[in-house]
Amino acid sequence: MIRIFILLLLTTTIFASTVERNRVKSGETYLIFLEKNALPLKKLYYDLDKDDQRLTEEIRAGIHYQILKDDNGTIEQVLLPLNDELQIHIFQDKNKQYKFEAIPIISETKTEAFHTTITSSPMYNILKDTGSKKLAQIFVASFKNSLNFKNDIRKGDELVMIYDQKYRLGHPFSMPTLKAAMIEMGKKRHYIYLNDDGRYYDEKGHEVEGFLLARPVRGARISSYFTKRRWHPVLHKWKAHLGVDYAARRGTPVRAAGSGRIIYAARMGSYGNLIKIRHDDGYETRYAHLKSFRRGIHRGKYVKKGQVIAYVGTTGRSTGPHLHFELRKHGRAINPLRVVQVTTKKLHGKAKKAFMRLKKNYDESIELHLNNQSKPKKYGSFENMSYIHFLPKKSDG
Ligand SMILES: [Zn+2]
Repeated sequence: MIRIFILLLLTTTIFASTVERNRVKSGETYLIFLEKNALPLKKLYYDLDKDDQRLTEEIRAGIHYQILKDDNGTIEQVLLPLNDELQIHIFQDKNKQYKFEAIPIISETKTEAFHTTITSSPMYNILKDTGSKKLAQIFVASFKNSLNFKNDIRKGDELVMIYDQKYRLGHPFSMPTLKAAMIEMGKKRHYIYLNDDGRYYDEKGHEVEGFLLARPVRGARISSYFTKRRWHPVLHKWKAHLGVDYAARRGTPVRAAGSGRIIYAARMGSYGNLIKIRHDDGYETRYAHLKSFRRGIHRGKYVKKGQVIAYVGTTGRSTGPHLHFELRKHGRAINPLRVVQVTTKKLHGKAKKAFMRLKKNYDESIELHLNNQSKPKKYGSFENMSYIHFLPKKSDG
């Protein structure tokens, strides 16, 4: 089936249709969203398969979405981003029936850089100069395990930041990725580089300590690994396993893999008793099939890395006591074992040589921005922009 997509910026008015732009409110679920807009719950939720239903759980507060209405106020289309790559598209087919689909978000990535002189703190100066809280956050987060900004920074110290920023139709969106950075502390320079292996290293090629614990359950054996496709012994069908299973005795303590805020602590379908923790930089961890939560653990609570939050159990869809552990970045499940490490990595041999070449390029770039005093870009208000695509009205449904 060939569809012709016409991409249009949504502030424009087209064919007497109007576009409303709103944000998902805290606590607003997909079902609440449908009800609020008088959209059919059966067609757009209950008739969906389980995978699509689960996708709708990925909607997060603060996301901008768009509703396209005709001149009678009838909803023609909705675009609801799930993360920075995928969005829900609700539209009317030729029979005026509402349909649900998940479609990719198209964007381009630009590498940008700037220099600034510190008058107060890195957080303050980056925010003041760029207008982007996200840039300030990723800068501070990337150095926070190795440097103490509070005590050692002097007025007049300088910093350079090189990062990737995603754009949709000329507007920045989503979290930037730090590529390389330099900060002076009392005129002594400190560097950080994103290597090709996706990890951050200092100027000596030593990994900057990750924020996550190696294992959320001490001494437990891994009984099932992360995979995008596996045979499910209970359901007898192919499924994805978007986490790592740790087999352990019922009641074994489960620890927060990293510091963060608990955003969910209750029962959730096949997950059984579930805890979700939101961490910095768009990371989230999930702990499922729990026997029970530790006393005082509830939604909204801030927990520290290593703190006991719950106990291993077998609630929900589970064949025996184990912890199902998930790691998500910007809503997408990623393999925790790729990110989590027992010890900090040191680069050797070929890998170190490759890193040193990469570092040399970044160093030259940092030097250049330092000498040129490259001015930051001013971002203004940051929005989660989306595309809407218009299906040809007559020929296609
Ligand atoms: Zn599992």
